[in-house]
Amino acid sequence: MESRETRVLNVSWRIRSIRGVHKPSPQVAFAAVLAVVGIVGLVIWGKVSKPLTLQDADVPLSLPENGEVDPRFQFLSAFQTARIPKAPRFDPPLGTEHSALVYNAQKFWEMNNKRGGHHTGDDLNGIGGMNTDLGDPVFATADGLVIYAGEPSPGWGNLVVIAHKTADGRTLHSMYAHLHRIRVSIGSLVARGGKIGSVGTANGYYPAHLHFEMRASDGVDIGAGYAMFPLNRLDPMGTLNSLRNAAADDLSPSPLGKLLRK
Ligand SMILES: [Zn+2]
Repeated sequence: MESRETRVLNVSWRIRSIRGVHKPSPQVAFAAVLAVVGIVGLVIWGKVSKPLTLQDADVPLSLPENGEVDPRFQFLSAFQTARIPKAPRFDPPLGTEHSALVYNAQKFWEMNNKRGGHHTGDDLNGIGGMNTDLGDPVFATADGLVIYAGEPSPGWGNLVVIAHKTADGRTLHSMYAHLHRIRVSIGSLVARGGKIGSVGTANGYYPAHLHFEMRASDGVDIGAGYAMFPLNRLDPMGTLNSLRNAAADDLSPSPLGKLLRK
């Protein structure tokens, strides 16, 4: 004789059997719950956090996560720093040695509302205006070591950075942007007055001109051409004039230039 409870259980078991549902063992149920929790957890984790990479850690930006060192961001090695030559004299980078035939179309630290910041350099142009200076030679402002030569972004175009050691021991960088052509490579020594490239338009972004900067910096960080804070930017032509160390009619070439030609 079946009790009432037994009958109910038997009926319910029969119904499950007919529907093809079997009661899972506790171990299988536990594993299934774990799997569901794991999948939900992974989905949430993926939504709230990007995968960790080496660049998330406290490491220099130049550390190559994949492939090569990025020369747009790097501190100079002790060896590179030791190779920076003394620069006893500075000359303007465009026009003649005393900057004839050149005008400054956008001076350092002028506010540019369209670009949302102060101009971090001087925009030097040939006096003909517009593209008449396209292809004109750009000169190294002083003896130095090329620490960047390349195209950091389309807006910058071709760009060169040269490190100089001033007579009073400071390391300064000169930067030449929007170039049509580059004639030097990273690691080469250049002499004041040596041709390092030519005036360009940064891939047609601007009428031809030379965006020229002077920076007090230990490493390369190209950054932007407009900023709200001066950062390491110096007044380019003002700095150059303070370091010029030559009379206006003194056109003597760099002794380093003579050495490099040999
Ligand atoms: Zn500029």
